[in-house]
Amino acid sequence: MKVCSKCRIEKPLNQFINDYRLKSGKGAKCVLCVSEYNKARRLNGLVKPPSEERRQYQREYDKKWAKANRHKKRESFKKWAGRNPVKRKLGNMNRRFTIKNDRFEITPKEMKALRHSSCAVCGSKEQIEIDHIIPLAKGGRHSIGNLQALCAKCNRSKGAKFLIVFRKENNLLAKG
Ligand SMILES: [Zn+2]
Ligand SMILES: [Zn+2]
Repeated sequence: MKVCSKCRIEKPLNQFINDYRLKSGKGAKCVLCVSEYNKARRLNGLVKPPSEERRQYQREYDKKWAKANRHKKRESFKKWAGRNPVKRKLGNMNRRFTIKNDRFEITPKEMKALRHSSCAVCGSKEQIEIDHIIPLAKGGRHSIGNLQALCAKCNRSKGAKFLIVFRKENNLLAKG
């Protein structure tokens, strides 16, 4: 327990702000008092938005911190993911493509257009999924040139085959 220097209330240590410059690792004020103080400063226009330089520094710092604190990062990510299931799913998609292709080359607009087009094989508009024409596993890129809309049924039967093989097997190639 510790007494907050501001509100003078005795509180457990975990309710005090972290301050790694201090030996105890904890600041003199409780979390509530500090957040109130910061809020007042913001409301009074005393807080300037951070400069680009400062933001860059923060990004670097966050990266380093995340590297050194993988476990903590995972925990906080899990909490965030629990609150934001949809964003989490999108993030997973992006990360998967980013790892394999080092770049996520499709704009949200292109993605949207793709989602609203009809199946490239049977023309159905039901359960459209986005498919890589050349599979990522075979070196295809996650870019608009390598993406097509497929209905769930056609997508299932395509699997990881090349579209040309798939079309041949299904007699879908243009004659002549
Ligand atoms: Zn306090
Ligand atoms: Zn189809």
